[in-house]
Amino acid sequence: MNALASISLQRPASLDEAARLLAQDGACALGGGTDLLPNLRRGLGEPGLLVDLGGIPDFGACAIDADGALRIGAGMTLAAIAADARIRAGWPALATAAGLVAGPTHRLSATLGGNLCQDTRCVFYNQSDWWRSGNGYCLKYRGDTCHVVVKNDRCYATYHGDVAPALMVLGAEAEIAGPDGGGRCIPLADLFVEDGARRLTLAAGELLVAVHLPPAAGWRADYAKARVRDAVDFPLAGVAVALRREGERLTGLRVAITGTNSAPLQVSVDDFVGQPWSAELAAALGEAVRKQSNVLQTTVAAVKYRRRVLVRLTQHLAATLWAGVPAAA
Ligand SMILES: Cc1cc2nc3c(=O)[nH]c(=O)nc-3n(C[C@H](O)[C@H](O)[C@H](O)COP(=O)(O)OP(=O)(O)OC[C@H]3O[C@@H](n4cnc5c(N)ncnc54)[C@H](O)[C@@H]3O)c2cc1C
Repeated sequence: MNALASISLQRPASLDEAARLLAQDGACALGGGTDLLPNLRRGLGEPGLLVDLGGIPDFGACAIDADGALRIGAGMTLAAIAADARIRAGWPALATAAGLVAGPTHRLSATLGGNLCQDTRCVFYNQSDWWRSGNGYCLKYRGDTCHVVVKNDRCYATYHGDVAPALMVLGAEAEIAGPDGGGRCIPLADLFVEDGARRLTLAAGELLVAVHLPPAAGWRADYAKARVRDAVDFPLAGVAVALRREGERLTGLRVAITGTNSAPLQVSVDDFVGQPWSAELAAALGEAVRKQSNVLQTTVAAVKYRRRVLVRLTQHLAATLWAGVPAAA
């Protein structure tokens, strides 16, 4: 890694000021910096201005309202989310996912906003500048060729965030602030684009302010991932499952995956609702996940392995949640 280039840094004291600064050409938000700074040290990006969001009052606040809904500020650290007694009690899948990100020291400074908005990854992108230049760079940055899918219609780098799928199966919405005091709430899935270079639907000057979760009553949910080094690694494949069961019938099912596509993906599984859990249903669920995922050679681990592990993790989580026993991560 190289030394960081000289970059201007501003630490706004309000959301309005942050949005105004982020609207400037070449400005980039800074959360805990655990994703952004290593990338910059590899020459991946040249922002003219870093906007440190850590000075905004209550940016990391977390509260439950009178209806039991949760609002988590984008500045809350993953360590705090994983340890928060209210989140562990009401939305344990979220605490699990946050606790499985990277290693303990990353989680102390890594924020929810940075985790959700993290860059996509690829074996042809997360390399030093001399490596990438020797390869003619790539479509995601500085080049005009995607080395993963040679069609060049878009960048196929993969999203590897752990927290997004857990939030998606819990029905999360993203609260976004923009310049001129503008704000909006969108389903979390709509924050992402299935394009490794574009990644997010945020416009210039917009930032993620918070995530809202409805009460999870009646749902059982969990998240699991496969990674090379258990102590500190991105998911090669990760899956969150939420299900509702009444007697011998599945009355609700949500599945979201990560590490496989350019965006976290909510898998379409509505057809399975109303059925009892069975070996046939497990096989069909595995097939649905396999078909809707798009695992490509964007990591050093083999595509076949990541596909298989994704299917098995999904089936295992769903079976364990159905049986009512919390699944081991
Ligand atoms: C060795 C290593 C292992 C890792 N393992 C994992 C892993 O297992 N799972 C995983 O999910 N991640 C992993 N990461 C990536 C990273 O550490 C985490 O995703 C972390 O949560 C990023 O949060 P941050 O606050 O540090 O983000 P930053 O690095 O500050 O920001 C990341 C991106 O989000 C943008 N951003 C930050 N906050 C906002 C906001 N509020 N609104 C809009 N945009 C914003 C930034 O501009 C930047 O583009 C790993 C990183 C390393 C170095």
